[in-house]
Amino acid sequence: MSDRVDDEETYYHVDGEVVARADATVSVDDRGFRYGDAAFETCRAYGGTVFRWERHRERLRETCETLGMADAVPGDLAARVDETLAANDLADAYVRVSVSRGVQPGKLTPAREVDPTVVVYVSPLPRGGVDGEPVWDDAAVVQSVATRRPPESVLPPGAKTHNYLNGILARLELRDGGASRSAESATEAPDSQADRSPDQPADEALQCDVEGRVAEGATSNLFFVDDGVLKTPAEGSILPGITREVVLELAREEALPVETGGYRLADLRSADEAFLTNTTWEVRPVASIDGVEIGGGEVTAVLRRRYRELVEARCYGEAPG
Ligand code: PMP
Repeated sequence: MSDRVDDEETYYHVDGEVVARADATVSVDDRGFRYGDAAFETCRAYGGTVFRWERHRERLRETCETLGMADAVPGDLAARVDETLAANDLADAYVRVSVSRGVQPGKLTPAREVDPTVVVYVSPLPRGGVDGEPVWDDAAVVQSVATRRPPESVLPPGAKTHNYLNGILARLELRDGGASRSAESATEAPDSQADRSPDQPADEALQCDVEGRVAEGATSNLFFVDDGVLKTPAEGSILPGITREVVLELAREEALPVETGGYRLADLRSADEAFLTNTTWEVRPVASIDGVEIGGGEVTAVLRRRYRELVEARCYGEAPG
């Protein structure tokens, strides 16, 4: 398998067919386009095996259920992913699967009959596992932003829909220098801001919930280590990431003290270590939060290694799954 570089030879899966990228189109009447009325998952294939596929499939089903289209995920979705990887001659890849409510007449209230639009998108990533390369260059520079995560009563946080505007607004604050109005600037005045110009935005926008508790990054979950205890914001205003779930399992196996709870940005300043998790980054150490240096450490290193070993065993080893 080789890394594909020629974009014209890229293939996606649209509505049951493998098609060349140029032909991979969706109707302007599709509700995924019109309203963001769609569910998606970002997965990672290692050596041709999608890590934690069952969990991603389940979360996709749950999102579709939240959207009132529980049966929209096609039964052969795994086969569609395999076909897309094969068409692109890819084994190590970023894999995104989307299920939209499809084309319907232009009314906000969804029709009961659903003919979903199902898309599989792939792009090359480096090998993972024990000998793998991380997809990121450096530890993450994290900046808190003013854009809050919506509470559960506004948007179910576990639903991973095409409507990513909340996270996009958070990232725009980084890109456009709006981070100067960081989450706590109105109340607590941070000691310093990330030392980056708008041309060099921070790597991740850290969002709080409407109560001012630390929630998560725009596309990642946050962990930190304080006095030997691994801490992460509790479920409520966060997307409970599948990588977060794996890391919590590994921490239990390592007998590390773990706490989930409600934390303030001020709690992060004294952290001994911090890291972000998501499917593509896996476990990514945090260099600094709001300009306060934190860095990785022993706990981060152990969990990174255990995660990579798990990927190696499940995806490159003898026991796929
Ligand atoms: N939170 C948000 C808001 C995200 O978009 C993501 C990426 N899906 C995550 C957390 C991490 O989730 P996962 O580990 O399942 O990739």
